[in-house]
Amino acid sequence: MNLKETAEDRAFRLAVREFVQRELPADIRKHNEEGWEPEKDEMARWHRILARQGWLAPSWPKDYGGTGWTLMQRHIFEEECALNYCPPVHIFNIAMIGPILIEYGTEAQKQRYLPKILDVEEWWCQGYSEPDAGSDLAALKTDARLEGDHYIVNGTKVWTSLAHWATHIFCLVRTKKDGKPQEGISFLLMDMTARGTSIQPIPTLNGQHIFNQVVFENVRVPKENLIHRENEGWTVAKSLLDHERLFLARVGDNKKRLQRLKDIARKELAHGKPLIEHDWFRRKLAQYEVRVRALDLTVLRFIAKADSGQGLDPSVTMLKLAGTELLQDLLQETVDALGYYGLPFQQHGIANDELAPPFGPEHAIGASNARFRSRAFTIAGGGSEIQHNIMAKHLLK
Ligand SMILES: Cc1cc2nc3c(=O)[nH]c(=O)nc-3n(C[C@H](O)[C@H](O)[C@H](O)COP(=O)(O)OP(=O)(O)OC[C@H]3O[C@@H](n4cnc5c(N)ncnc54)[C@H](O)[C@@H]3O)c2cc1C
Repeated sequence: MNLKETAEDRAFRLAVREFVQRELPADIRKHNEEGWEPEKDEMARWHRILARQGWLAPSWPKDYGGTGWTLMQRHIFEEECALNYCPPVHIFNIAMIGPILIEYGTEAQKQRYLPKILDVEEWWCQGYSEPDAGSDLAALKTDARLEGDHYIVNGTKVWTSLAHWATHIFCLVRTKKDGKPQEGISFLLMDMTARGTSIQPIPTLNGQHIFNQVVFENVRVPKENLIHRENEGWTVAKSLLDHERLFLARVGDNKKRLQRLKDIARKELAHGKPLIEHDWFRRKLAQYEVRVRALDLTVLRFIAKADSGQGLDPSVTMLKLAGTELLQDLLQETVDALGYYGLPFQQHGIANDELAPPFGPEHAIGASNARFRSRAFTIAGGGSEIQHNIMAKHLLK
């Protein structure tokens, strides 16, 4: 198996790098570099730049506005975007509801929703988790009762990221209470402005507004907003392409953070000489180098397999687990290397009157924000314990 980039891949990488470095607005890069969640306006601007280039939805089939890239090309694209501090694309639009509509939507649903995603007009959020249904998602209780041409929806969704930006929410709802819990769930498309829908913010540890609780009280949803068939929403929800799991390892982020840690270790002193000149610190860096390299090669191994048409087995789960845990370790190490200056939340260049002006060396800005932000990576999209369970169940039998 050849894990090296071909000359063609290398040329593609350089083209992506040149595009990203030329087109990414400096203020967006700076905000991302400082470890903050992107603002809606920043994401919209970046989405429009990608859309003009035809690169907004690389995972979609070409007929629907995708790029037709190989998985290796997608990997290179994602890595270059991360290395150059681009904001992520809106995952709910591009990686979730778009592919779901393409696979399960009716022609009318596709025509109604897909163009507005590519035109950056409509924003989706994901209504899966509930106060008593997270890892055990099938326990969800939000009730949808069919009355004539409408479902009447009642219930509460929680941790709904960016619901306050969203025009629409795709929701898992309960349409049957008896039998196996998974067999009574349906997948509904809902309008966030519908009467009876309310949003309450939940502040995060680093003081940002990402999460919300979304409450539905007798919300009327037209029957034609059902995706696929009633009580078969579980199949839809679980259909996230295996290939998407190749892109959860955050290889670009890990490479970028290791590079940044090395830069800091050249500038920060311990006992009068730079950290990077101490053997004990060099040993740590070597361990991180090995982990980042191993992650990179493992991702490339999976990609080579998938690009040659072979299916992916559940071991692909290891990518998210290894990649997110490595990133958290690197960000914690960065805070440690900075000593006192690693502690405060700070940013500059972005208006935020509640924060004091930045202090300490330039290279310390954002370290604390990024560290706190990364705590969520091992919970969102299935906690590390759940990833361990999947691997144990499928691979250690
Ligand atoms: C940044 C972020 C964004 C999110 N965005 C969204 C969103 O937009 N929409 C949405 O619907 N949800 C969202 N979530 C919610 C996310 O899907 C849930 O947090 C996740 O599924 C875990 O569920 P929970 O929080 O209820 O924790 P629980 O399921 O209560 O788990 C608590 C702890 O117990 C462990 N645990 C649970 N079950 C087992 C088991 N069987 N074996 C071993 N350990 C177990 C878990 O790993 C965890 O450590 C988001 C979460 C985060 C952190």
